[in-house]
Parts: sequence; C-alpha cells; structure tokens
Amino acid sequence: MTNILGDNDAAAQQNRQLLADHNVLAVDLMGSPGCGKTSILERVIQQLKGLTIRVIEGDVATANDAERIEAAGAEAFQINTGGMCHLNAPMVRRAMDKMDLAGTDLLLIENVGNLVCPAAFKLGAQYRFVVSSIPEGDDKPEKYPVAFRTSQGVILNKLDLIPHSPFDTEKFWDLCGQLQPHAVQFAISCTTGAGITELCQWLTEQHSQLTSA
Ligand code: MG
Ligand code: ZN
Repeated sequence: MTNILGDNDAAAQQNRQLLADHNVLAVDLMGSPGCGKTSILERVIQQLKGLTIRVIEGDVATANDAERIEAAGAEAFQINTGGMCHLNAPMVRRAMDKMDLAGTDLLLIENVGNLVCPAAFKLGAQYRFVVSSIPEGDDKPEKYPVAFRTSQGVILNKLDLIPHSPFDTEKFWDLCGQLQPHAVQFAISCTTGAGITELCQWLTEQHSQLTSA
C-alpha cells in the first residue's frame, strides 16, 4: 500500500507541474454518490463564462455524467475506472494528455462517488473540494474525517432542502472547521442557484492569482 501511494504521489507531482506550466487551475471534487457533483459542474459551466473549462469525469461505468457536462457546454474527458472506486494520478494524466492544456483555464475533476479511498489518492489538482449535501446528514465530517481533513474546500449542497430536514448547519460547519480550519466553505443549491455566484467568483480569483504569480 505504501508503494502504491508513493508511486501515485510521484505521478500527482508531475500532474501538478504540468498544470502549473500551462496556468491551469485544477479542482478535484470528491463526494458520495448523489451529493450533486455533476450538478455543481453543470451550474459552474453555465455561469462561469470568463474561463475555458474542461472536465474529467471519473465513473465506475457509463458516460452519463460526461454527456451532461458536454450538454452544459464544456469538453468532457471520461475515465471509466473499470470497477475501481477512486481516480488516481496516472488516470488523470492520461486524460490530461488528450486535452488542450494550453487552451484550458479551469480543469474540474469529478472523482468517483465515494468518500473513503479518493481521499488517499492525490491527483495533482491545486484544490480538493469535498461535497456533502443536506439529505446526507450533518455528521458526515465525523464519519469521514480524512475526506474533510485532506480537502482545501467544502461545498454543502442542496441548501433548498433545509426546511424539510433536521440538518444542523452550525454543527456541520463546526465539525468541518475542527478537521480543516483553513478550508474555504460554500453553501449552495443547484436547484435554486444559491451560492453558485460566490463559488464562480472564488474560482475566477484563484485562477487570476495563478496567472499573476
Ligand atoms: Mg456525477
Ligand atoms: Zn477506491
């Protein structure tokens, strides 16, 4: 296991360098099946018009999500993991090699729906976001601490379902803060569009810091 992770880390470091060489901001989205990762990508693609976005879609099987991304207006690169429950850095590299990196500003990577092993595999993205949603309950950070500890951002999705749920928002953010005090936090709804503007602004700011550095 240590060797597998060591090899993966080396490949992730190469990905990171390749992204930096081309001024590409990359964000890895990790979350349970059904938390709304693909819907978030659709919303961002539709609203963030200033940056050229490309998407890597990790799925165990099917290209359904990649088709949704293309319909939203971004080029999608499908990775079918063939049963594996996470993406790793070499898979991401193979997709990056097919991509016009020089013509890409923002690379969004949708990891396989899973909160356990994706946390152990760095992909080379500058940021990892963990996505959690209201119906999953407010104790997700307690149950999957590694996912929250190793993420630089947290997105709480399906905010529109708050009135129908016992979800304790304050408790959720407290738990997140205990695990990773520096993570940037967004509360959003892909149904109403709440919070999407803020997320798009943040992505734009990170990209301009990258290109001005
Ligand atoms: Mg999806
Ligand atoms: Zn896995």
